[in-house]
Amino acid sequence: MNTLPAGTPREYPNLDALDHALLRAVVAGEARLTSEQALELFNRMPFHELGRWADARCRELHGDSIRTYIIDRNINYTNVCNARCTFCAFRRDAGDADAYVLPKETIHEKIAELAAIGGTQILMQGGMNPDLPLDYYLDLLGSIREKFPAIHVHAFSPPEMIEFVHFFNPPGATLFDKCRWVLTKLRDAGLHSLPGGGGEIFAAPVRRKIGLGKCDAEAWLTVMYAAHSLGMFTSATMMFGHIEGYADRVHHMWLVREWQDKALRVSESEADHFGHYKAFIAWPFQRENTPLGRVKHWGAEPAELACEFPGDVVARGFAWGANPEVDYRELGPDAAEFGRRVRMSGSSDYLRTQALSRLFLDNIYSIGASWVTMGPHVGQMGLAFGASDMGSVMMEENVVSSAGTTYCLDEAVLCRLIRESGFVPAQRNNTYDVLRVHDGPSSPDRLVTDWSTHRAKRTHQEAPRQSRASVTISATT
Ligand code: SF4
Repeated sequence: MNTLPAGTPREYPNLDALDHALLRAVVAGEARLTSEQALELFNRMPFHELGRWADARCRELHGDSIRTYIIDRNINYTNVCNARCTFCAFRRDAGDADAYVLPKETIHEKIAELAAIGGTQILMQGGMNPDLPLDYYLDLLGSIREKFPAIHVHAFSPPEMIEFVHFFNPPGATLFDKCRWVLTKLRDAGLHSLPGGGGEIFAAPVRRKIGLGKCDAEAWLTVMYAAHSLGMFTSATMMFGHIEGYADRVHHMWLVREWQDKALRVSESEADHFGHYKAFIAWPFQRENTPLGRVKHWGAEPAELACEFPGDVVARGFAWGANPEVDYRELGPDAAEFGRRVRMSGSSDYLRTQALSRLFLDNIYSIGASWVTMGPHVGQMGLAFGASDMGSVMMEENVVSSAGTTYCLDEAVLCRLIRESGFVPAQRNNTYDVLRVHDGPSSPDRLVTDWSTHRAKRTHQEAPRQSRASVTISATT
């Protein structure tokens, strides 16, 4: 990358990662952690101490008072997918009995239910369905804009976009040009921003093992950059706690930070046109019902613990991306089980990773707590470990739920979780503007007299379905 955006803190690679002077400067936005320092912090800093530094950085950016949430609805318009990610329990083949494509009338009903509870956004993602032409998406987006002009459409993750490029064969000399062509069509039809799904772990050795048929990191980041070039704001994600090494997590965050620098640098000269990443959200792999979940847990056999976790060995061979074609079979016996052992992430590993993201991603505005996968109370702890946002009230979720996670919270519970953490809950929109600050007696949580009716519920799930919905498909464009 070339010059950095104005105001980017400088790196001090010779300082020890645990040096308090360095960390005070990171908190103040006056120093940037190197990848090596970030990995050192992750490995060596005591758990609560790492949380305190991340919390200090979060307070520096967001103050001591407000922590946010959004009311949106996940809509998975199809579960048909031609990729075969080994961590996925959601995908179906087109001929499967419980494969579906939602008719637009069903999607409209879901949006109407969202609008009725004060929702402002839909998060719409699907599998990579090769049978849906561009007209399906243009018609769907146009109909949503016509019926629900106030609803923000946050939809189509980078892997879907890459498949759109493959399916629709748009004009353009480069992948960036082709993405921009498709994105322009979708934006003009009613798409507002892109979610960060499909990021997983960017490191090529890991991605090749778990994301079969899914785009690589360069393509993922190029889609987002093309969206930024059209003025869109997007989010970045990471799914960890499987076969990757700890260094792969830092490498993943480093790529997000680098491409964010690139977007911010351009936006200095074209401020009205360029977007960037607004948020980073990381969550651990959920294993139920997934092929990857059948892989043995690292350490199930005590003798294994005398060796190094294979993912860490391969991550070292990957050398922060300098050796993308690393052959793990040549890295010694400790790497031999790479991809055949998972190191699942528990609560402390999750919080440690999230705290590190707050300290390392100095150019990302918001860090989101992932209570959907970790549960409400770990999500609440996330607010003390660098997160400034509690994500969304969850009306419906199909992807993570398919892998065994079932948490579902309403607005009152979400507000209560934030308030019990010592903050004032505030509803935000997609660009993190505060819509309502709940500091008065009519706040959603303060109106509740019987909390027994507000327990975490199972999420609504789309599949399995009794009858398969169908759509009428017009000519491919
Ligand atoms: S994670 Fe997404 S892209 Fe991968 S198989 Fe599942 S639905 Fe398809």
